[in-house]
Amino acid sequence: KKIVIVGGVAGGATAAARISRLDKQAHVVVFERGDHVSYANCGLPYYIGGVIKERDALFVQTKEKLTARYGFDIRALTEVTAINRDQKTVSAKNLATGETYEERYDVLVLSPGAKPVVPPIPGINEAANAFTLRNVPDTDKIHDFIEKKKPQNAVIIGGGFIGVEMAESLRERHLNVTLIEKQEQVMAPLDPELAALVHDQLRLNDVNLVLGKGVSAFEQEGTVLTLEDGTKLQSDLTILAIGVRPENELAKAAGLDIGETGGIVVNQFLQTKDEAIYAIGDAIEVMDRVSGRSVHIPLAWPANRQGRIVADNIFGKKTPYKGTMGTGIAKVFDVAAAATGNNEKTLKKYGIKYAAVHIHPSSNAGYYPGGMPLAMKLTFDPENGTIFGAQAVGAKGADKRIDVIATAIAGGLTVHDLQDLELAYAPPFSSAKDPVNMLGYAAA
Ligand code: FAD
Repeated sequence: KKIVIVGGVAGGATAAARISRLDKQAHVVVFERGDHVSYANCGLPYYIGGVIKERDALFVQTKEKLTARYGFDIRALTEVTAINRDQKTVSAKNLATGETYEERYDVLVLSPGAKPVVPPIPGINEAANAFTLRNVPDTDKIHDFIEKKKPQNAVIIGGGFIGVEMAESLRERHLNVTLIEKQEQVMAPLDPELAALVHDQLRLNDVNLVLGKGVSAFEQEGTVLTLEDGTKLQSDLTILAIGVRPENELAKAAGLDIGETGGIVVNQFLQTKDEAIYAIGDAIEVMDRVSGRSVHIPLAWPANRQGRIVADNIFGKKTPYKGTMGTGIAKVFDVAAAATGNNEKTLKKYGIKYAAVHIHPSSNAGYYPGGMPLAMKLTFDPENGTIFGAQAVGAKGADKRIDVIATAIAGGLTVHDLQDLELAYAPPFSSAKDPVNMLGYAAA
């Protein structure tokens, strides 16, 4: 079988590796527009901030290692420009030489990811100091700009995961940082009362947080930003982090279905309407595992899981992808903010009947030094106890509690079952009644 993969990073590289494990004879061609495959996108902000010191640490695998280990045929710096479904070929362009050619496939896997949204704000195209962050070249540009131009004032537009991580990273580099978010809160997966704790943490670390206002103009080549209320901000370096949208152009041009979220539509086996073409990762629309609705959730776990499933399905396994809960976490200076499933805002928007409880336990036994406060919220169905989602913010232990609840949701446990979970305990780690048990008691 000849399998062609478009995109050689999270989803694409995972699929390729799994395919070659399933069938050593499979001919796998991976097209990647960039120069790097299988790198750690998620580590990019930390390299800019200097926490990850070596650039090389970002490269999980190199083309050479992958080729030697798995025998893939990796075509880096090569863009797929069209899918010719009737002929079962893709058109490819070598970006280094300009050469174009066609490559035949039996099965095609699309994992082209999502690209940062660049809003049409007046003057934005003249701003040589404004950057988006998606890949290694973007990272190099920001890194070099900081080294060479020594900017003092940075403005980050957008308070999602990447915006917040970049705020921390640029503070690490001792820049004055302003974070602008058009909504009244950062980090949409959190409800406002938990996001407020993230706001405190940002302010505590001298991030100038501007909420509820957008940027209306870039002036003087981007060095002056005007906000919607007329406020002017000096910016030596601007990071645009207002979100991403699926790279759906190839699929659209090939007549594949695109959903309302902009993601490529796939069935539960991750197949598009053309059964020879699969699509995975940030480019697709997925089912919200809690509400059953179609959503776009660009995260690394789903891309990875889908990469593996797609390989299995190409070899006849028929493994369904069960949907995405959006389990996520970000470090915000001294706290972690984590969430899974549907928060109260989402449930309200969908008109789903819900109940919510809040608790404020200590991460571990109060009498043992180092216990830290946790703020937790659980949303659930008041009638049958189905767990809809959870959020946690705190300096210690937020990650494991959210992971336990994500597991409970995946396993179909109810709030009553949370009381019954026997979780690891010794004073440095938890209490005999873990915060997850407490949520169960509070909800029941
Ligand atoms: P990608 O990994 O983006 O790979 C797509 C690749 O396809 C790209 O390299 C692109 O060049 C290539 N491509 C596109 N079109 C073509 C074409 N026509 N021809 C050839 N090649 C093409 N997620 C988390 O869960 N946790 C995190 O902490 C986290 N941090 C992140 C930090 C940053 C800065 C960024 C940018 C993302 C982060 N993510 C994080 C998101 C995560 O990286 C993505 O969800 C994941 O990489 C998606 O995998 P993918 O395979 O769909 O797309």
